[in-house]
Amino acid sequence: MLKEKLSEVNKNIAEACKRCGRDPKEVTLIAVSKTKPVEMLKEAYDCGVRVFGENKVQELEIKIPNLPSDISWHMIGHLQRNKVKYLIGKVDLIHSVDTLRLAEEISRLSVKNQVVTDILIEVNDGEETKFGTDMNETITLVEEIAKLPGIHIRGLMTIAPYVVDSEENREFFRKIKVLSVDIAAKNIDNVNMDVLSMGMTNDYIVAIEEGATMVRVGTGIFGERDYSK
Ligand SMILES: *Cc1c(COP(=O)(O)O)cnc(C)c1O
Repeated sequence: MLKEKLSEVNKNIAEACKRCGRDPKEVTLIAVSKTKPVEMLKEAYDCGVRVFGENKVQELEIKIPNLPSDISWHMIGHLQRNKVKYLIGKVDLIHSVDTLRLAEEISRLSVKNQVVTDILIEVNDGEETKFGTDMNETITLVEEIAKLPGIHIRGLMTIAPYVVDSEENREFFRKIKVLSVDIAAKNIDNVNMDVLSMGMTNDYIVAIEEGATMVRVGTGIFGERDYSK
């Protein structure tokens, strides 16, 4: 089951890249394994998955020591400052940095542990303003965070609105891509804009067509999540 689902996703990614003249190597599939048991992650690992995305520190604490060490772990969920300490040196990328205060804590602990932590700035659509920085404030936030030691901004992340037809998000993805190009053009010290993390099960194909370099797919690989447990 998982194997077939995964190859379907990989096939869709390859075809989307082909349609828009992109090299599939430019797109990293992040298998979003939140709520799924370690055995299921092992199954995905055996099918070749090496990049996993989780949204809770408590789950990462259980999963990291129980899975092979060549896995690249990504923190994709909202992060509280008091949880940062567990992640430093353990995850390869934190996708969900949306405030200076959170970045300062990542910076402080990275310096203390003598590592540089790669992060993305989470941008929202200005409507569902739960987490993420407003598009109009993103450049200012990037400039402030870029000054911090021990931290390296690699690009932007966004969670698109939930829509029935993924085409509805095309314009939104396009805007985020334009924003990342605008920021890149500023040549801010310590900032790269080579990562664009956007697209989930419902809309990763459109996201790739609009420039995503990382897609975060959970349900499409592991099936529906059960939050009742
Ligand atoms: C859960 C989650 C995903 C994956 O969602 P699916 O719809 O299951 O693919 C992607 N990104 C973030 C930030 C998530 O929390």
